[in-house]
Amino acid sequence: LKTIRMSDQDIADSMKRELLRQQENIELIASENFVSPAVMAAMGSHLTNKYAEGYSGKRYYGGCKYVDEVETIAVERAKKLFNCSYANVQPHSGSNANIAAFLALLNIGDTVLSMSLDQGGHLSHGSPVNFSGRNYNIIPYFLDNETEMIDYDEVERLAIQHRPKLILAGASAYSRIIDFKRFREIADKVGAYLMADIAHIAGLVIAGLHPSPFPHAHVVTTTTHKTLRGPRGGLILANDEEMGKLLNKTVFPGFQGGPLEHVIAAKAVAFKEALSDEFKKYQRQVVRNASTLAGSLRDNGIELVSGGTDNHLMLIKLVNHSVTGKVIEHLLDECKITVNKNSIPNDPEKPFVTSGIRVGTPSVTTRGMKEVEMIKIGALIADIIKNKDQAITRVIEEVGEICRRFPLYANDIIE
Ligand code: PLP
Repeated sequence: LKTIRMSDQDIADSMKRELLRQQENIELIASENFVSPAVMAAMGSHLTNKYAEGYSGKRYYGGCKYVDEVETIAVERAKKLFNCSYANVQPHSGSNANIAAFLALLNIGDTVLSMSLDQGGHLSHGSPVNFSGRNYNIIPYFLDNETEMIDYDEVERLAIQHRPKLILAGASAYSRIIDFKRFREIADKVGAYLMADIAHIAGLVIAGLHPSPFPHAHVVTTTTHKTLRGPRGGLILANDEEMGKLLNKTVFPGFQGGPLEHVIAAKAVAFKEALSDEFKKYQRQVVRNASTLAGSLRDNGIELVSGGTDNHLMLIKLVNHSVTGKVIEHLLDECKITVNKNSIPNDPEKPFVTSGIRVGTPSVTTRGMKEVEMIKIGALIADIIKNKDQAITRVIEEVGEICRRFPLYANDIIE
């Protein structure tokens, strides 16, 4: 920040305020995390200066010897982490990784079977306002009304009825194990590709806490910044040489230009961290924390979609509390607890209002919080849901006390 302040006071001031926000808030957005100082340093480095269109050893620019080293290390570590034979570390984001997979496997207008956005899917899986939904024939699958879990028999019925070219398994707001093996059996029945988007659960997959999409999926996409705890970015994985060649061509020159080598360096650093035993221990705590938080919410009279969680996130149902997701997100923000409103299955409210809240434990676990804090945080959220404005003063006080006990980013690293 010191260096930035010397040339740009305005941006330095805003960045400082955002740092304080991260330090002083309980961060429960399920798709966020706090990267290590090493990951952050790689991102903010001189590698941003280098153009390197192409791939290691085959670039369209001179001077790529050292970024080649960086990208090759990133690719090799990604393959090791996910136990597969192909990785492309160039997608600028998770959505870009998904676009690349769609472009590689499909022709415009082809049919895709994917989880409905309002039941947990992602925009890039076929929302009508997104590239995916605008260019492909999307057939959504839904959750079982009773269990609020994926209804695999229904997925199979829809696959047989619509004969998709691609079935997409993966979600942004689904708190249960995804059965990739069953998805592959369905895909094989109708001759479809199986694509797995493991953006949310990548860290859990690495730690063996969620079944791997391999050997079942033909293509796997992920972000690198959620449970994986790397820089903001995307990653594509596969286990087949021909598929790898096709995916490489699709990313570059298909639809991206120069790769972000500073971000790729940060991905490599994060992958090294993810190969450690410490990372597996962290992921185990993420899941334990989620399960404890879910228990605390339930003990305090709050209902969850599907009744609980197997992973790092859960969805709170607000329908019986006469309040919307939008209002609770706002009230929790005032108390310095950060969450996002989220549609729940068969939500009576619009997507910008919703009847749900999504919460996840990757960030608070990185800060070092454990079961004791989760029990407390569950009670604080329930207090706000039940007592609204009346609870704000007491909740703010408790949040401040918890955050002070778990410091984030020593100021001398950032300043
Ligand atoms: N896929 C899933 C399942 C996601 O949850 C997300 C982001 O939340 C993405 C893809 C897109 O990632 P990005 O925001 O990097 O484009």
